[in-house]
Amino acid sequence: MVGAGPVGLVSALALARQGIAVTVLEREPDVFRSPRAMTYHWSCLFGLDDLGVLDDMSAVGFYVRETNFHILATGENVTFSLEPLRGLVKHPYNLTLGQDRLAEVVIEHLRAYPHANVLWNAEVDQIAQQGDHVDVRFSIAGEPRSLRADWLIAADGGSSFVRKSLGLSFEGLTWPHNFVATNVRFDFRSTGLFETNYVVDPRHGAVVAKVRQDGLWRVTWSEDADADPSEIDARVAAQYAAVMPADASFELVAKSMYRMHQRATETMRVGRVLFAGDAAHVTNPTSGFGLVGGLYDAYVLTEALGAVIRDEASDAVLDRYSDDRLSAFWTVSSPVSTESKRLVFHSEDADRLEVDMKMYRRIAADPAQLVSFWSQGKRIETPSVVTGLRLSAGRNDTAQ
Ligand SMILES: Cc1cc2nc3c(=O)[nH]c(=O)nc-3n(C[C@H](O)[C@H](O)[C@H](O)COP(=O)(O)OP(=O)(O)OC[C@H]3O[C@@H](n4cnc5c(N)ncnc54)[C@H](O)[C@@H]3O)c2cc1C
Repeated sequence: MVGAGPVGLVSALALARQGIAVTVLEREPDVFRSPRAMTYHWSCLFGLDDLGVLDDMSAVGFYVRETNFHILATGENVTFSLEPLRGLVKHPYNLTLGQDRLAEVVIEHLRAYPHANVLWNAEVDQIAQQGDHVDVRFSIAGEPRSLRADWLIAADGGSSFVRKSLGLSFEGLTWPHNFVATNVRFDFRSTGLFETNYVVDPRHGAVVAKVRQDGLWRVTWSEDADADPSEIDARVAAQYAAVMPADASFELVAKSMYRMHQRATETMRVGRVLFAGDAAHVTNPTSGFGLVGGLYDAYVLTEALGAVIRDEASDAVLDRYSDDRLSAFWTVSSPVSTESKRLVFHSEDADRLEVDMKMYRRIAADPAQLVSFWSQGKRIETPSVVTGLRLSAGRNDTAQ
């Protein structure tokens, strides 16, 4: 496994639980902590439950039972409750937890499996495939090392070294916008906002959400990619002024900037090398579907790979994995996220915004439409390539 991000670690745990020996190579010295994923859509929680990590994740994170659309210009709140999912699905709530904390929980569970290892400071710089194995070269503290594996999962993120070294394309677009993610200590509940909010505004659109129960919140927004990096502090101040009261006292804890893309590789399988997560597909994060898509990759891939390793399935299932997962990205994750980005950050057209909000008000008021809305994320799931059945069968069965 290359990469101890959330997708690599979850995949490693899923393989280790099947008794399969796994080594994770990670170039960082420890879990990477920049502010990124924090929302896990209800529909992907079943897989974390199956892996035995959901209780520990829930103990450090918290459930969110609504998402609020706040129109900055008018102060209107249109709130989408997850309550209509109650009784229909096993987990009728989204889970909030920083992806660094998810990684910590999974690492703790991996300790129970002596055949699973995570090597830190281990940067992979060469891979070579032969008929029945993959040779991986990496360095630890500048010292060259190598290992031979039957299979390699590339979970090495959007800039994937493995993808580039195999000469794979990464087709799609890069937005002319950056995403600025900040962690801040300020209680947005005191301003009338909810725990998870899309603040809709053409200038100051933002995602404002509580990250932790101890008072840490995340404010993220979009800005032109050519905005001067040396003036970022002034832009942070302007954004905060738009979403906080004038006399607000807050503590800025972290800030990071990211390019935003809608891109995917042409295949998630090249022989014995398999791709999962951002290494295979990246989306702008407005809907919070990036890691969710990566988790679904991990669920389907590790079940299939385990079956192939045990000779219970032909390796053709891995091609099917690639086709299904790329299709889910291009038909669900990418277009839904693109639409969310347009609504939250680019609502310049007032007539269009009014049409959008009419629809959102109707959805918010109708439990059946809320179930339909919340089922969008479920469409990122693809069935087992071994059995053809949904891995979530019996637990995510909304009427949709
Ligand atoms: C601001 C922001 C907010 C987001 N919010 C959400 C959200 O709420 N919900 C959601 O689902 N998604 C969200 N996302 C997307 C999410 O963060 C990514 O989809 C997720 O990190 C992908 O996980 P991954 O394990 O595939 O890759 P990564 O997290 O990028 O991990 C890849 C790992 O591989 C390692 N690596 C890279 N190259 C090498 C090498 N050569 N050798 C060894 N190791 C290597 C890296 O150091 C890294 O640890 C957000 C993204 C951003 C930017």
